[in-house]
Amino acid sequence: MIQTQNIVKTYYSTGVATTALSNININIKSGEYVGVVGPSGSGKTSLLCLLGLVEPPTSGEILFMDINTSQKKEQQRAKLRRGNIGFIFQDPNLIDELTVYENIELPLIYLRYRRREKIKLVEDILVKLKLIHLKNKYPTQLDGEQQQRTAIARAIITNPALLLADEPTGALDSKSGDSILKILSELNEDGMTIVLATHSPQVADHVQRIIQIFDGHVINENKAIQ
Ligand code: ADP
Ligand code: MG
Repeated sequence: MIQTQNIVKTYYSTGVATTALSNININIKSGEYVGVVGPSGSGKTSLLCLLGLVEPPTSGEILFMDINTSQKKEQQRAKLRRGNIGFIFQDPNLIDELTVYENIELPLIYLRYRRREKIKLVEDILVKLKLIHLKNKYPTQLDGEQQQRTAIARAIITNPALLLADEPTGALDSKSGDSILKILSELNEDGMTIVLATHSPQVADHVQRIIQIFDGHVINENKAIQ
């Protein structure tokens, strides 16, 4: 699904260079549920940004679905991302002026789905994520778990090949967090490839395979089951 070859990410700001990732070589196969685990500042978010084709590496190669993306311009990466890669974060990042239904529908509008298809997809996902009774509510009327369920629904409405989750339970109490992790496990059981970044060993217990990072280096890795 996605492979990296010697990727390095260096940020330059106000004359200071910070190398967030050094020589990362990982291979994520279709259908895997992988945890990127490490303390704060270890490079998890940077790695997910690269795997999600949001930013290019400073050097090295990233292959996504066998396409070498390293030389691709922002617009080409955006095109590859669209519909193929879903993101969720600690903050649900919902649009407050839109209802649950409209937030979830948004990616389909960008991708110019037909009206009837849009309705079917949104209704199906509302049922799947137990949000149907909340579909006309606004984000501020929801609790944190319901907001995160809505964010997951929006991220997967296009049935992306890859779902990237950056500390998705970081702002939730443990019961709500467990419920979100259960949804991710179920999505993976249904075939979705998921990469989850977390600093928490308890959260990391839910994934199939762990890539441990520290100071921008992979320090330990369970190898993929062949
Ligand atoms: P994590 O998600 O594990 O907390 P990050 O990937 O956010 O780690 O950060 C890794 C390192 O890169 C940190 O030292 C952080 O300060 C630095 N960093 C991340 N993003 C930027 C940026 N946009 N500009 C400068 N430094 C950054
Ligand atoms: Mg982070």
